[in-house]
Amino acid sequence: LTGNMMDFQLTINSVMRHGRSIYGKQEIISVTADQPLHSYTYEQAFARASQLGSALAEMGLSPGDRVATLAWNDYRHLEAYYGISCSGLVCHTINPRLFPEQLIYIVNHAEDKVLMVDLLLFPLVEKLRDKMPSVQRIIIMTDEAHMPSTELEVECYETLLAGRPTDFEFPEFDENTASSLCYTSGTTGDPKGVLYSHRSTVLHSMACTSSSTFALNIRDTVMPIVPMFHVNAWSLPYATVMAGCKIVFPGPKMGDGAVLTQLVNQCKVSVAAGVPTIWLAMLNHLREHNETVPSLKRICVGGAATPQTIMDEFEQQHGVSVHPAWGMTETSPLGTFNMLRPELDDLPAEQLNNYKLKPGLPAYGVELRVAGPAGNEQPRDGESFGNLGIRGPWVASQYFRSDKSIIDEQGFMDTGDIATIDQYGYMQITDRAKDVIKSGGEWISSIDLENAATSHPDIAEAAVIGVPHPKWDERPLLVAVAAANKKLSLAELNTYLGEHVAKWWLPDDVVYVDELPHAATGKLDKKVLREQFKNHQLP
Ligand code: ADP
Repeated sequence: LTGNMMDFQLTINSVMRHGRSIYGKQEIISVTADQPLHSYTYEQAFARASQLGSALAEMGLSPGDRVATLAWNDYRHLEAYYGISCSGLVCHTINPRLFPEQLIYIVNHAEDKVLMVDLLLFPLVEKLRDKMPSVQRIIIMTDEAHMPSTELEVECYETLLAGRPTDFEFPEFDENTASSLCYTSGTTGDPKGVLYSHRSTVLHSMACTSSSTFALNIRDTVMPIVPMFHVNAWSLPYATVMAGCKIVFPGPKMGDGAVLTQLVNQCKVSVAAGVPTIWLAMLNHLREHNETVPSLKRICVGGAATPQTIMDEFEQQHGVSVHPAWGMTETSPLGTFNMLRPELDDLPAEQLNNYKLKPGLPAYGVELRVAGPAGNEQPRDGESFGNLGIRGPWVASQYFRSDKSIIDEQGFMDTGDIATIDQYGYMQITDRAKDVIKSGGEWISSIDLENAATSHPDIAEAAVIGVPHPKWDERPLLVAVAAANKKLSLAELNTYLGEHVAKWWLPDDVVYVDELPHAATGKLDKKVLREQFKNHQLP
């Protein structure tokens, strides 16, 4: 028996209609390349997204064609998100921090037809233009006054929009139509494209507004400090519009603690999301200038494990509640989000802290599985670890332009992460499968060691990799950046680390470097380190 309810299509178009008609006067504030602080309303944003839709409709593109964006977080990028996807085209967001070869690879793999580029990023396109044969038009996201002089054939975004209808009728299509495309950063092999659909995006964004996650509502002012060029800024450009939040886009200055603090205070930001590096930059600024962020109520920390200092300083000194979260490009990205169960409230401080730092509980819509070596499900005891699988309507089933399914018989996608789940259901990442150190047939978590090392005030950043060992197969090597000029000896370090991890986990050696290598998404690039230290002689 089929239910008698409407077959209403879950499209991004419906999110736009909702935002425009219900919250039309809500404000969107942006830092941009050509204006220090731009401000307008939802109504104006979607009127302009409509104008973009009208322009795209005249370009002779076919449904499903890719229109790429290479841009920072600002209002024009938001217009592109909606204008492109709502036209039945695919918004392919490109990470400007990719190495040029990777950038060229993905533009060609995606066969982008149109490239919309931020003024500040145009020099990158100028250098690579002749290696992008599929690209027919380049649109610079600025006005005539700021157009750069160039030999290339380019168009001006504002001129393209000017005078066009603000009530363009976007086409109608099925909710399973592709909406956007994002490539993984490719720390293992070539980047792989994840092709989101309207339906997956809408369901995922609804999960991100829910009170078990970001808990967004009309009274919130939200600043996505996660880039719109990677995994749709964790859905915030859609989730905020669903909930009618005021939005603040930090533009190109996303890593600048001073700018972020100023924006939070000036715009009274209440909710923000970002990777640990962003929060560390903001805390450094707050500490050095003795400033506060009284409007900020809650932050989400994802993309990597939450360092203890972020939890402690934000909560204790600024009254901000900190929510670690976990996800990946393939999962749109929301997988888990940390909300504290009330039954944990009265635990002794150290145990409570342990739960608060975990990336949390799965959001409704996704299901997790931790599989042991034989594929069996591991007990939920917080200790038994294995390969983390995930399934749900916003999890990828295959990569773009590949016919190979990435889901197993039970419908799970292997995340490539090693994790535990505890008795309360909290998931914890212990490592990425390719980074785990295999010592004498047992596994050592590189992440646990890194977290323990960076909890020491003299260590600014740390990476632990396995180096070949004749007896144990692999042993851990700690590569560290010292916080001040003080370089702890191996013995001093291991005395400290010994309080946090098992004795047989302790690194066999420590090497200090000025800087650690990072991939385009800001994560440690351990592939580079493994290559660099493959012949390292352990003492
Ligand atoms: P990549 O292109 O490297 O896959 P993603 O942005 O998709 O980039 O990164 C996803 C990975 O980041 C996860 O598989 C996991 O290893 C790591 N990650 C994300 N959130 C967390 C977290 N809260 N704790 C630990 N690791 C995390």
